[in-house]
Amino acid sequence: MGEDLEKLKQRLPLLDYLRRQDWTARPAGHGAEFVGLCPLHAETRPSFYVNARKNLFYCHGCGQGGDLIRFVQLSRHLSFRQSLAYLEPQNAPTDAGAVLEETAAFYQRLWPHYPEAIRYLEQRGVHDPALLQELHMGYAPGGSLRRHLTAQGYSLDLLQRTGLVNPQGHDAFYRRVVFPCYQSGRLVNLYGRSIVASAPPHRFLPGSKGGLYAWEQVRQSPEVILVEGLFDYAVLWQAGFHHVTCSLGTHLTSDQFRQLCDSPRTVYLTFDVDANGSGQQAAQALAPRLRAQGITPRRVLLPPGHDPNSFFVQGGDARQFHSLLEEALS
Ligand SMILES: [Zn+2]
Repeated sequence: MGEDLEKLKQRLPLLDYLRRQDWTARPAGHGAEFVGLCPLHAETRPSFYVNARKNLFYCHGCGQGGDLIRFVQLSRHLSFRQSLAYLEPQNAPTDAGAVLEETAAFYQRLWPHYPEAIRYLEQRGVHDPALLQELHMGYAPGGSLRRHLTAQGYSLDLLQRTGLVNPQGHDAFYRRVVFPCYQSGRLVNLYGRSIVASAPPHRFLPGSKGGLYAWEQVRQSPEVILVEGLFDYAVLWQAGFHHVTCSLGTHLTSDQFRQLCDSPRTVYLTFDVDANGSGQQAAQALAPRLRAQGITPRRVLLPPGHDPNSFFVQGGDARQFHSLLEEALS
């Protein structure tokens, strides 16, 4: 293990990894040191140092430091083991991308056979077949993916490494609506929404969620609506709002935050107005951080107890949502 770990770190130097994540840095005095903005906490003056020779980082702002694995743990919120699994495909050539594509296509073909899935979509206000096509949505009934993929020649080892099959050998996604997550045109993860109330609602495969959802489609737009869930995204898209993106939760990763700030624009923060207030707290915390980067944040206030999905499901229409955008707090 120790030796493999050293090899991994040698093959994938910390500085290369950070640069691949769009970290920009300038040399800091002596030879091997670089400094830039900390990807782990919000700051405006660089205090994140990388020593390329020692392959270590340290941030004077948040006090975090360590090696590549430690950085992945902190930035991706993964355990030590998950971080290794996450780095593995970036490091060794594999057909992980191909197996994800095959999985997404397989799940897409299953829709017509599962009325339970169609019923769930109706409940969530999704009824436009063009939307299913546009988002490449699929349905994972569970219990059939492993057989399908091994018949295609994919090894069980690969299926377990990608997280599609769990350590017990069962399909990881069971009775879930599946949305493929792309980044720069490459399929990087799958999000599965359980249609059964007793299961944890949200599930991703291990590894990167892949930045903001469908970012390539909206990045040129001077106005962007940001929502926290993919069913919020789906109903807005269906109602004709195509300048929408989704952070897959209220916490933006540093990649997502950077994308949102990559050029001046207005961002309509349309998070849930839920009883515990977490969506609105997140929006309030995010607004000044965006403003500091030259973005115009506007907080959209849905009626109490609503998220964009429930707003449309319970009879809200495009015209009403448009008024909410116009009334959004700046
Ligand atoms: Zn920091």
